[in-house]
Amino acid sequence: MAIHMDIERYRELPAVHRLLAHPEVEQWLEDEARSNVLLALQVAIDTARRLVAEDAPDVDLSVEGILSFAHQWLEQRAQMHLQRVINATGTVLHTNLGRAPLAPEALVAIMDVAKGYSNVELDLTTGERGHRYDHVEPLLCELTGAEAALVVNNNAAAVWLVLNEMAKDKRVAVSRGELVEIGGSFRISEVMRASGATLVEVGTTNKTHEYDYERALADGVDLVMRVHTSNFRIVGFSYQPPLSALVALAHTAGVPIIEDLGSGSLLDLRSQGIGDEPSVRASILAGVDIVTFSGDKLLGATQVGVICGKREWIDRIRNNQLLRALRVDKLTLAALEATLRLYLDEEKAWKNIPTLRMLTTNSEELRMIAEQLAREVTLCVGGHARCRVLETTSKVGGGALPMEDIPTFALALFPISSTSSRLLKALREQSPPIIARIAKDEVILDVRTLFEWDYEELVQGIRNAMNAIAE
Ligand SMILES: *Cc1c(COP(=O)(O)O)cnc(C)c1O
Repeated sequence: MAIHMDIERYRELPAVHRLLAHPEVEQWLEDEARSNVLLALQVAIDTARRLVAEDAPDVDLSVEGILSFAHQWLEQRAQMHLQRVINATGTVLHTNLGRAPLAPEALVAIMDVAKGYSNVELDLTTGERGHRYDHVEPLLCELTGAEAALVVNNNAAAVWLVLNEMAKDKRVAVSRGELVEIGGSFRISEVMRASGATLVEVGTTNKTHEYDYERALADGVDLVMRVHTSNFRIVGFSYQPPLSALVALAHTAGVPIIEDLGSGSLLDLRSQGIGDEPSVRASILAGVDIVTFSGDKLLGATQVGVICGKREWIDRIRNNQLLRALRVDKLTLAALEATLRLYLDEEKAWKNIPTLRMLTTNSEELRMIAEQLAREVTLCVGGHARCRVLETTSKVGGGALPMEDIPTFALALFPISSTSSRLLKALREQSPPIIARIAKDEVILDVRTLFEWDYEELVQGIRNAMNAIAE
């Protein structure tokens, strides 16, 4: 009986040729390739057939039902999978949201280089083959005080390459308090193993003294490595030798010292009252032989790992066979060079690099934006939700300055006839998707990480999301 019924229901399914003749489909064919439309119709019919077989309730087998499904499928397929989102999390360097947004100057540079050919590996003076690193090396040296510099795919790659060149089959001393794990399971100990170096742990989790390093050096370690504890802090009964002391110890023993700074900053963030992130220049000045850091954390450029320091070591790293496997492409170099140029005029850097601007926007300005947005949202969500301005805090993110809570203002939305988690999901389903968070049953939209061009789409998106969950 059941089988008989299924067959009956399958019969209701319209045939592809009948659907093709439908006026709505004829209209699709005006801007869609016929093969795409056929595929969409076939997928819609197959899906309906499967749903019937699964005894799914309320399957609409009418021509309109099938067409509506096919249309949805076509639209979804045309949509870019990687797309812009509105970051209302307040986390400035959100790794899941692409870390640093680029400065307008970097975007222009990318477009210019990407749309045609470039001198990425051509020396325009001699007409001979040039080095791709030459475009950014002088800038990196000027901005950090280093003798030489190189860039690779990301900081994880930079650390790996430096260890591979400087410490393969050798022993590297690292404090137990610095054996960092970064999100995405990047562990210093694992990278060390993969590079062919052997980790020698010194000191304890909370305290590592000069004499711990001295013993390791007397015991014959070949390299001292300092790792910035970017995403955590050991507070209380704790000690790490100052960098200058560590440099002196290593160099007295005739051993090089390297530092993974993680984020690395080219400016002094403390001057703006933000945290205690060490600057690259300070490490170079202290005499560290090789420093590595990310391009898309506090620097505010694109994903890249910077390696800078003593020329002798950079030259060796440059000749490492595996550099080729980690090399950056021309778009990355364009974005990085344009961003570094902004640092030549500190004021421009603070103003034009979105990461730095967002971190330093004062809270009075944020309050005004939040109040304006709250008025607009209240107007368009009417009686379906309550919207208020909330004084809260933002995070730096990207594994930088974990203790830093920056005062900010946010919209707090409370859907009256639905739940916050449904609203949060509906916001993600907007175009562009809106990424927020929930606190105490309210959806929180921090305005610190919004761009001016997000405002209108944000209000629209909230309205559409409210409508979607009200249905
Ligand atoms: C972020 C970080 C890394 C990894 O850098 P990526 O650019 O993400 O590869 C390595 N070490 C430290 C200390 C970090 O903070």
